[in-house]
Amino acid sequence: MSTESTLTGALSSFDAALQAGRVAQAYLVVGNIREEGMPFAEQALMRLFCQGLMKPCGECSACVQIREHRHVDVVWIEPEKKSRVVGIDRIRDLLQVVYQTSYSGGWKAVVLAGADRAGEEASNAFLKTLEEPPPRCIYFLLSDSPQAIMPTILSRCQRIVLSTEAERLPDPWQSELLGILSAPCENSLSGRMGRAKKLDALLADIKKTVEKEETIRFREEQEAMRNPDDRKTPKGDEDVLSARTEARFRGLRSMVLRTMLFWYRDLLVTGCGADATSLRHPEQAGLIADLARRIPYAEALANVRVIEDMQRQYDRNLSSEHIVAAAMSSLRG
Ligand SMILES: [Zn+2]
Repeated sequence: MSTESTLTGALSSFDAALQAGRVAQAYLVVGNIREEGMPFAEQALMRLFCQGLMKPCGECSACVQIREHRHVDVVWIEPEKKSRVVGIDRIRDLLQVVYQTSYSGGWKAVVLAGADRAGEEASNAFLKTLEEPPPRCIYFLLSDSPQAIMPTILSRCQRIVLSTEAERLPDPWQSELLGILSAPCENSLSGRMGRAKKLDALLADIKKTVEKEETIRFREEQEAMRNPDDRKTPKGDEDVLSARTEARFRGLRSMVLRTMLFWYRDLLVTGCGADATSLRHPEQAGLIADLARRIPYAEALANVRVIEDMQRQYDRNLSSEHIVAAAMSSLRG
């Protein structure tokens, strides 16, 4: 689906919720922040605040102010330019606004762009307002990496997915994974072990990259918070760094499993005669059709169950090598 039709679809669901008086308190808008998240938030806000007859008219003063991000009852928060982080001070400013009465006598709204860029202190302060919401206040959290947001915040948001890119494993990992899955392993022991080794290596590479990126980001945050009079950079809380690294790695690992699950579901439904348009990996339709012809239905179904079990085993904290080796030796095709 193109971005435009996804956006239109998301807005009509929002309209329906608004008309039914069932607007959620907080929405997590997953997608590119500038190109998808911001336009969605602006359009949704116009629907709430528009004073025209046909809402949103796009022309009344409320609509114009929203488009220009200067409506008095809407707070826009973005990561600071220098540190690329949403600071605790901005969250405190926001609290002041949301607990005041609305100027326009109706809604108040908060748009938190880059919700995944809020540090722990800012995230906790933000969580408080989600837990003790002021009346008639709506939140839009925009993010292109929702797996990096605190789970306690995520659980309070209704998710709107504008682009599946943000839900997809980033390249080159996605292509590597599809390469591993599509390479024939001849159902031999060495073939299966080779596949397990490649998958282990892919997970290790993801982990190493996440550790490196999170460390750099953490050091930059420390640097940005440094008092200019201090000579030394304050020593950061290493627990925060490791918790963040772990959360992001787990998110990416879930995407690996989801990609695998879609792959084996595609094989299953293709074997049952579904056409390419219903596949999650339509670009691989030819290859999937070839593989599907060689796998009996019962085995294709068993493959899907093997992948579903992997996530359950990870949730039980079993060792990754063990999970991968066991799964790869059970998969067929
Ligand atoms: Zn209007």
